[in-house]
Amino acid sequence: MRVLVTGGAGFIGANLCRALAALPGIEHVTALDDLSTGSADNLDGVPVDLVEGSILDRDLVGRLVSRAGAVVHLAARPSVPRSVRDPIASHTVNATGTLNVLEACRSARTRPHVICASSSSVYGDCAVPYKSEDLPVRPLSPYGASKLAMEAYALAYASSYGLPVLTFRFFNVYGPLQAAGHAYAAVVPVFLTRAAAGETLPIHGDGRQARDFTYVGSVARVLCDAVTRRVTCPGPVNLAFGTRVSLLELADLLGRVLGRPVRAEFLPPRVGDIRESRASPRLLLGLFPGVRPVVLEEGLRATAEWF
Ligand code: NAD
Repeated sequence: MRVLVTGGAGFIGANLCRALAALPGIEHVTALDDLSTGSADNLDGVPVDLVEGSILDRDLVGRLVSRAGAVVHLAARPSVPRSVRDPIASHTVNATGTLNVLEACRSARTRPHVICASSSSVYGDCAVPYKSEDLPVRPLSPYGASKLAMEAYALAYASSYGLPVLTFRFFNVYGPLQAAGHAYAAVVPVFLTRAAAGETLPIHGDGRQARDFTYVGSVARVLCDAVTRRVTCPGPVNLAFGTRVSLLELADLLGRVLGRPVRAEFLPPRVGDIRESRASPRLLLGLFPGVRPVVLEEGLRATAEWF
């Protein structure tokens, strides 16, 4: 099978391309990426074709999709703060770009299986212990709204045109290749960079806000299995395993992994910061009964080694 990975030079995309290229049933992997936040270096040594271009280029997307048996659509402007600053740009790439990919899939004679990356941000800040897919959605940011639009379009293409579709809601994914150097970096690479430099770990608010950290290797494993078995679902599926780790606990664990004490520095809370984000993994485990997540300590160790 030939697989197209949009956003394939990004953090999750490059980890996925590496995993896909090692699978026996996969004949060829193409990564389509405009390198806006991704990097060709992420694919060093990975046997994939990197096509530098945009999902907004409908001709290019059409050509690449026409040869694919599966499309894993990860390309996006992934940052919440950037979406607050420039909502139109987020909408254009995340919603309109997805529509371009879906249209190309609808026209392709190969009838590709489409897997899309939505986000836990569609839930907003509803105060429940586990976020299950049947909860009402209320995104708090333009990024979350654009992700809700993209998953709604993908599911509508399944019901309107019979396209084989699977939409995942990723939670806080971390691991090797996650960019640390920019203003919108996620918490794990920020903590690792600061700890490596002997600096304090910045925590906004009281540090008790909790996340469902998911190791990128676990995400790649589920995506590979989904591609191989052409898994579909009529509704969105959380891709996280229901763990609850506060930022204070994350800082502690990082100190243990690095073998030296780390110090937190408390900063004012961030506007719109979500208090609790933890997935119900029930639907995921029903669709992927064999999947075993990498535990946080092990994932942090692998990430720290890569740093
Ligand atoms: P990333 O920024 O590393 O990857 C996104 C990739 O898309 C980048 O390589 C970027 O260059 C590429 N891209 C952006 N605009 C493009 C365009 N117009 N055409 C082609 N390529 C384009 O981020 P990531 O963390 O790997 O995210 C991958 C996907 O997972 C995104 O859709 C993101 O919204 C989603 N997601 C990620 C997380 C997480 O915790 N990392 C959580 C929820 C959802």
